[in-house]
Amino acid sequence: MRKLNSETIAVRAGIDTDTQHGAVVPPIYLSSNYTFKGFDQPREYDYARRGNPTRSQLAQALAELEDGAYGVMTSTGLSAIMTVIQLLSPQDILVIPHDCYGGSYRMFDHLARRGLFKLVVVDQNDNNALKNAIALNPKMVWVETPSNPLLRIVDIQAIADIAKAVGAIVVVDNTFLSPILQQPLNLGADIVIHSCTKYINGHSDVVAGAIVTKDQQLGVDLDWWANCIGVTGGAFDSYLIMRGLRTLAVRMRQHQESAATIAVFLDNHPAVSHVYYPGLPSHPQHQLAKTQQSGFGAMLSFELAGTIEQVKILVDEISLFCLAESLGGVESLIAHPATMTHAGMEPVARTAAGIGDCLIRLSIGLESVDDLLADLSDSLDSVLASI
Ligand SMILES: *Cc1c(COP(=O)(O)O)cnc(C)c1O
Repeated sequence: MRKLNSETIAVRAGIDTDTQHGAVVPPIYLSSNYTFKGFDQPREYDYARRGNPTRSQLAQALAELEDGAYGVMTSTGLSAIMTVIQLLSPQDILVIPHDCYGGSYRMFDHLARRGLFKLVVVDQNDNNALKNAIALNPKMVWVETPSNPLLRIVDIQAIADIAKAVGAIVVVDNTFLSPILQQPLNLGADIVIHSCTKYINGHSDVVAGAIVTKDQQLGVDLDWWANCIGVTGGAFDSYLIMRGLRTLAVRMRQHQESAATIAVFLDNHPAVSHVYYPGLPSHPQHQLAKTQQSGFGAMLSFELAGTIEQVKILVDEISLFCLAESLGGVESLIAHPATMTHAGMEPVARTAAGIGDCLIRLSIGLESVDDLLADLSDSLDSVLASI
């Protein structure tokens, strides 16, 4: 059969697979355990921590969407990361970007402090720093692109090339773009991880994660680890995520169309001193984003003119953007990284990562873009009036 396009894979996940009743939408298997057919005759599934049919259908769809060999569903994005980290031993070096997701950074930092592995933090856009880190022969190189919250882009293929040359495993956190807009395994990565909490589920009602590997055996190993440490995902969550997944492609299309419009609006607004959006030609890695991604995504950040006082006015005035963490849902969100998503970082590390007090992050939802623009315009006018 011809290889299917992403839209089709996402829509058709598990559809028309019910052999018992011919249900179009696959049933949920909520049972925690499964009978043996007879003495010493196990079936495919025995216990739901280890395996579940609903979860398998979703994992399979995500593996296909990422063009990988094997998918593993986990209870959260962080537990997907925790599972991947099991591949490291105390003498191993893990190289991470200095501006990775705050929760990932906190986990890496605290596990390294306990001696589970050695951590090297670098600015992956600084070629010398990156080369020096790779020269240490790391076991694993972590990549997150676009980065959170500054939307920096790193060249996955270039990093994979130098990391592979020293035998390192390359992991990409693909949460910000989803497999619809970026496929890291086809750019040389070995493992992709997702917080399915974000775009993949897309409706802000599930916390979950996923791992997809290029290599079948590595996937089997990580599946073993997910069961071993007890972080596999739940059946009901998997069902909801599959339902969200069906509209992923159309959601991403509308999300990013609105984000592009809003980025241009903010870029021209006097209350905004800088906009971070890879779709703007002024973005330092705009060309790289164009070639490496198949869209610019729907996350953007900006520096508000003024002080923390103006930030407070903006978040008080705005009405169609909820002041909340997370991202990638149908509803628009506004976040203040310094006091919210990145509050767990040491202030020194936060400043080094370029996350100042006036940085605002937006997750552009699926509301009418005209309504979102009007809301932003009114709120920014209040900010201007206060300066
Ligand atoms: C949210 C997020 C995570 C963590 O996922 P959870 O589902 O919240 O555990 C990891 N990486 C990125 C880029 C994220 O946005």
